[in-house]
Formats: sequence, C-alpha cells, structure tokens
Amino acid sequence: MPGKRPDPASLADSQWDLVVIGGGITGAGVLLQAAQLGLKVLLLEKHDFAWGTSSRSSKMVHGGLRYIAQGDIRLTREALRERERLLCELPGLVVRQTYLFPIRRGQFPGRWAMTLVLWLYDRLARIRDHRWVSAKELAERVPALRHDQVEGAMSYTDALTDDSRLVLRVLHEAAAEGGAMINYAGAESVSGTPGDMQLVLKDSVTGARHTLRSRHVINATGAWADRLSGASARVRPLRGSHLFVASARLPVKDCLTVMHPDDGRPVFVFPWEGLTCIGTTDLDHGDDLDLEPRVSQREIDYLLRLVNTQFPDIHLTEEDIVSTMAGVRPVISSGKGLDPSKERRDHAVWTQDGVITVSGGKLTTFRVIALDALLAATLIDRQTHRRLLNTPRLFRQAPSLPAGLGHPLHAWPQGEALSEQVRWVLDNEMVQHLDDLMLRRTRLGNLLPDGGATTLAGLRAQICAQLGWDEARWATELTRYQRIVQRFYSLPAPAIEAA
Ligand SMILES: Cc1cc2nc3c(=O)[nH]c(=O)nc-3n(C[C@H](O)[C@H](O)[C@H](O)COP(=O)(O)OP(=O)(O)OC[C@H]3O[C@@H](n4cnc5c(N)ncnc54)[C@H](O)[C@@H]3O)c2cc1C
Repeated sequence: MPGKRPDPASLADSQWDLVVIGGGITGAGVLLQAAQLGLKVLLLEKHDFAWGTSSRSSKMVHGGLRYIAQGDIRLTREALRERERLLCELPGLVVRQTYLFPIRRGQFPGRWAMTLVLWLYDRLARIRDHRWVSAKELAERVPALRHDQVEGAMSYTDALTDDSRLVLRVLHEAAAEGGAMINYAGAESVSGTPGDMQLVLKDSVTGARHTLRSRHVINATGAWADRLSGASARVRPLRGSHLFVASARLPVKDCLTVMHPDDGRPVFVFPWEGLTCIGTTDLDHGDDLDLEPRVSQREIDYLLRLVNTQFPDIHLTEEDIVSTMAGVRPVISSGKGLDPSKERRDHAVWTQDGVITVSGGKLTTFRVIALDALLAATLIDRQTHRRLLNTPRLFRQAPSLPAGLGHPLHAWPQGEALSEQVRWVLDNEMVQHLDDLMLRRTRLGNLLPDGGATTLAGLRAQICAQLGWDEARWATELTRYQRIVQRFYSLPAPAIEAA
C-alpha cells in the first residue's frame, strides 16, 4: 500500500479497467487478483479499509463445523482448502489453533457423531489432527469449565487471525502488484454500460465529487451491497456481537465451543491478542446501516449468561468487559424468513445494469469469492478461473511489514516496540483518523480499557509529528475517537439504548 492517500482528483484522469467498490476482505481480494492479472484497477472505500464487517468478525480462518453439520460439503471443503493455504502463506498472521468441543452426557452431538464429523473435516483439509480429550485432561486444560456431566472433549484444529490486519496485508500485496486504492472515498452512483461505466466518487476529506471512468465495476460493499446493485434487495443483515475480557478473568488457551443454555447455539470462547473473546450472537440487524453496529444490552446479557452457566465460579459481570465489538453479516437471504442461524453463509454474485455485485461468504474464502466476481465480470474465463483457483501461491511479493503485526495470539507490544510499529503504520497505511490507527491498523482500542486512552496520550507527540496535526486537529480527532469508542465499542449507554 503506498504510504500516502492519493489525490482523488488525479484518479479521474485515468481510464480504469476495473473499479472495485468496498475495502473489506472481498474488495481487497478482487483488487489483488485483478492487479495480478495486469489490469488497471482501483479500489474505493467509503470509510476506512476494513471499517465494515471485515474488522468485526470472529477472526477465525476455518472450514466451519456448522456447514459440514448442515451437509454443505462444498463450502466446507472450499474453506478448509483456503485455511490450509493461508496458514502456509501468512504465518504469524494466520495461526493454527487448538479448538475444544466439550461433550456432555445426553448432549447431541455426542462423542461418536463428532468423531465422524471431524474425520471428514480433517480429510477435506488433507490433515489428521483431531483426537479425544479425556474429562481429566479437559479439567486440567480448562479448570474453570463446568465439569458436571462432562465425558471429555473433541480436540481439532482450525485457525485464528486478525481480520483487519488480513485485509491490510492483502491491500499491501495488491499495491505491490500495481493495484491502486483510496480510503474515505465512497461511490455515490454508478451508470453506463459494461465497457463504458461512470462512477461518482465523493471524497469525505474535502467533500468534493469526481467522476471516474472504468470498463467494469464490481460492487463489493457487503452488507451495503443492495444500495448500489440496482437490483431488488437480496442481503439480510444479521448482527453478531463479541465481548472482550481480561484473560486473567476468563483464562482459556484453546478455542472452546460451548452451548448456550437458552437456545443450544454454539458460542466460542477463545484467546485473542492477549484477551479472551466471547461470541457471537446472531440476530437481525434493524439499526441504521450508516452507523457503526453496536452490541445491545440483550446480547450482553445473553453472552454473560452463557459464561456464567458454563464457567460457574467466574462470576463475570459487566464491570469485567474491556470492550465490545459488533459486526453485520452480509447474508444472502433465502427469502423464507428462516431463523438467522439457519440462513446459508455462502456468497452470491449477480449482475444488474452493468454492475457486478458480490456479497455474502466468509473472510476465509476471499480468494474464491474474488475469482467468482472476476468471472462474472468476464475479466477471466472459466479456464483461467480454474487455473487461478489451483495456483498454490496468492501472496508472492512479501512486502516488508514489521514482524508480529497482528499476530492473533500475541499481546500488542508496549513502549519502544509499539512506537516502532505505530511509526511504520503511520508512514505506510493511509491513516486519516485516530480510529483508523487504534481500531483497525492496531487493536489497542479494543484491547485496552477506555479505548487505550493512556497509551494514546503517550503516542500523541509522535502521531502529531508524523501526520502533521496541530493542537486543534488533535483535539478534534480525540473527540471523534472517544465518541466512537463510547458509542460503538463499549457497553451500551442506557440513554442511547432506549433511543
Ligand atoms: C459477527 C461475525 C463473525 C464472523 N466470523 C467469521 C469468521 O470467524 N470467519 C470467517 O471466515 N468469516 C466470518 N464472518 C464473515 C466475514 O466477516 C464477512 O463475510 C466478511 O468480512 C465480509 O467482507 P466484505 O468485504 O464482503 O464486507 P465488508 O467488510 O463489510 O466491506 C464492505 C465495505 O464496503 C464499504 N462501502 C459501503 N458502501 C460503499 C460505497 N458506496 N463506496 C465505497 N465503499 C463502500 C464499507 O465501508 C465496507 O468497508 C463473520 C461475520 C460476522 C458479522
């Protein structure tokens, strides 16, 4: 990624082969694949890169046991194959992790059903990494877990990542391959016919509008896809929320799947960047999509009840919550009014008025989703699609990122090491606002109390010097950041909740 945000006016001087709208994992994946094909390609992001769902997922690069349980072998195989490739290509950012699925007497699925599922799961991934863990070993590994009725647990592996750092990594790779990108530049409208499309870009920094010309347009705006697709609504926005607590309050070394006592839904409790994460929920998101999603009091009560039932001696309360994070799944609706957890999670690509729209799917399968979008745009044919799907390496440029940035199992560094990482990020990653730095380039705002206020104060001189901010700009940015943290990443304030 080039260090400086390009001048939006200069983007209007070019005739693009492809403009990709949306800077989440899907748009970033399309940009990278298109750049590797030698196309002149530009990505537009209305807010910040990974501002949408791609910084708010459960951070798992996984096949997804629920898909296999629903009989969706194709989606599971696809996701497992991508998991194994990402583990190989991005060590330190995508990290193999032990998952534990406790089995209790009388509970479904039991030991033998899970053994069968995991045998198939491993086989699809071409590994063998599942085993039975006795009740005694489980008690040693997770002493705080409720142990009545426990027979043992199935142990298997999947992977964890830092989702917004994954998006940034893909964008760095795309830039090294010649792709262009800009944040805080939304597409307001798209018109024309394939081969001769026009887009109106609104620069959020200056408020100016510019008209771009491109042969093709791919709309990769996730939960917002219906706004630009020109077709009738297809996306069903479903919210999922997470709580972060200090690992000392809920210590886990493995990713645990525990069943909610009220509805039997599986919920993960897992270690992430020095904290413990609990999530997720799954419910229709009726809030304004122009605002960042936030956890509701109902979801907090639901997740705390899960923890306090499954870990009876922990007595977790709202006071223990360091931060919260909610995301909106762009789920392609079946139109049948299904229970949210029963809607399928694969992606869809459709074309209307010259715009190719791609939405749904998973973080894990971004490479496959990107190729499907390029195929629909007739930028590749079926043969090339097949060839690229089977190309072992997607990442071939190895841009020089600081080691350890976004390792999902390491706590963020402190002191001089942190200052070095921040220096690199500010020089290389188009940071426009404090929330870009604190919530997506680093995760300090999610991992530290009060959005990392104390650490941020210590970084003030460095940030102002590097970004050329004066006192007034710092004050404006700080107010903006504190408002965002308070409204969208903390416990819901009673007044806002009631509104
Ligand atoms: C709670 C939750 C947990 C999840 N857990 C996992 C998981 O563990 N593993 C997994 O593989 N997947 C997971 N997913 C799914 C995964 O996160 C999403 O499928 C994926 O992030 C979607 O990426 P996207 O790029 O399509 O959308 P987004 O990341 O939302 O990106 C769309 C972007 O488009 C931008 N945009 C909107 N309108 C415009 C416009 N007019 N002009 C320019 N830009 C615009 C938005 O600002 C946004 O940044 C989870 C999802 C949720 C909600």
